[in-house]
Amino acid sequence: MKKVDTLIVGLGLAGLAYAETLYRNNRSFHVIDRPASGSSVVAGGIYNPTLLKRFTMTWMGGEFYQTALPFYRALENRFQTSFLFPAPIKKIFNSQRDHNDWSAAADRVGLSDFLDPSLHFTPLDGVKTPFGHGVVRACGRLDIPHLLTTYAEWLGDRIDFTPFDHDRLQFTSSGLRYGGIVAQRIVFCEGYKMKSNPYFNALPLQGSKGQILLIHCPDLAEDTILKGPMFLAPLGDHLFWAGASYEPHDKSLELTQEARASLEKNIRKMIDVPFEVRQQLTQIRPTVSDRRPLIGQHPRHDSLFLLNGMGSRGVLTAPLAAEWLFASIYDAVPLPKAVDIARFEI
Ligand SMILES: Cc1cc2nc3c(=O)[nH]c(=O)nc-3n(C[C@H](O)[C@H](O)[C@H](O)COP(=O)(O)OP(=O)(O)OC[C@H]3O[C@@H](n4cnc5c(N)ncnc54)[C@H](O)[C@@H]3O)c2cc1C
Repeated sequence: MKKVDTLIVGLGLAGLAYAETLYRNNRSFHVIDRPASGSSVVAGGIYNPTLLKRFTMTWMGGEFYQTALPFYRALENRFQTSFLFPAPIKKIFNSQRDHNDWSAAADRVGLSDFLDPSLHFTPLDGVKTPFGHGVVRACGRLDIPHLLTTYAEWLGDRIDFTPFDHDRLQFTSSGLRYGGIVAQRIVFCEGYKMKSNPYFNALPLQGSKGQILLIHCPDLAEDTILKGPMFLAPLGDHLFWAGASYEPHDKSLELTQEARASLEKNIRKMIDVPFEVRQQLTQIRPTVSDRRPLIGQHPRHDSLFLLNGMGSRGVLTAPLAAEWLFASIYDAVPLPKAVDIARFEI
């Protein structure tokens, strides 16, 4: 029988952030994960605390950013490898009106750290920029697959790659028992699959399907991320992540011709050099009706906790969300009301 402080279900960005938070605070844990089946493995990994549709900051974007970057840097130091690939985002302007909106936004507190006030009109090779572009600084991409694989390898016998069966969970006088594991508590980090969790599935996790393309494009610069109707982010070896679709009403993992055609059309709106589609992928983002994370303790089962609802910004959100959950459990620091699952009925 293995005794641990916490059993974590799911090793996407949320599960990893919580495991690492426990590790840094000398708490024992065990992870159960069905690998390569979550939103994290398909995500572009782009980190950017601004909203480039409206030229505003995302909710608590600055705070999430301040925690996330050092969190991943510390992992890079420990594993002696690179997970973060800083790259400016070049926002392709749609019209002249964007110029005024950009200049006004670049002056605002918070946004001024990220939006370079200059308007750029020098053509970019292979990119269609009839109205020029603006530059978002201090952004980039997290190589999530590399991070998750490296972390899972390091966990060694602290992870089991198997589906977690909620029916096999036993509540005992000394805590929880699942197979050969005895734990004081469970933290569920299941992403959209929380919909199959009988303890938490009444929460309004809506889910938004996203399809993406991996394209090969030898004539495009690989040192920047482009943002037009969607993102084009370089992965190395002339491969680019192109996405993503936003399909909140489709909960299937089916790859559709419509999405592929629409993604290809958007790519052609952004670039005028040839590309070849290498792969199409999809997953469902764990989005919530009020667009805030879902964190906290089950109202009737004291030993069950949730860390979910990372939405479409898991890279920046997960590390601070994990800190909040940890502080609420071990230091009795109340969770921010906006993220506490107590805001909903279960
Ligand atoms: C197309 C697309 C593009 C995106 N792009 C970005 C981006 O550029 N930047 C960004 O910040 N975010 C992006 N996101 C959002 C990001 O992917 C999510 O916010 C984040 O990955 C969610 O992490 P998570 O750990 O909560 O969930 P997940 O990544 O889904 O991880 C959940 C894990 O739990 C496991 N699991 C679930 N149930 C069980 C069970 N019963 N037993 C065992 N294991 C289980 C799953 O297999 C999975 O490994 C994107 C999402 C999509 C779909």
